[in-house]
Amino acid sequence: MPHSKQTKSKETLKAGALLCPVCCVEYIEIEVDFDVDGTILNNIKLLKCPICQDEQFTPEQQKEIEKRLLNLG
Ligand SMILES: [Zn+2]
Repeated sequence: MPHSKQTKSKETLKAGALLCPVCCVEYIEIEVDFDVDGTILNNIKLLKCPICQDEQFTPEQQKEIEKRLLNLG
């Protein structure tokens, strides 16, 4: 994994904004019905690249999914 530090561009980015490494554009946040092993979780937020359609979860979103799965019992 390449390491790049860009301290000066910090203020132009939204907090937590993630860039697609392929397209160099910001991921947009979308809501989907997410299928985990046959269990549908509604309104799960994830990040999607508007250009290449790559999908990413932030650590917060991953935690949210884990929490919801636990709540399903
Ligand atoms: Zn992309």
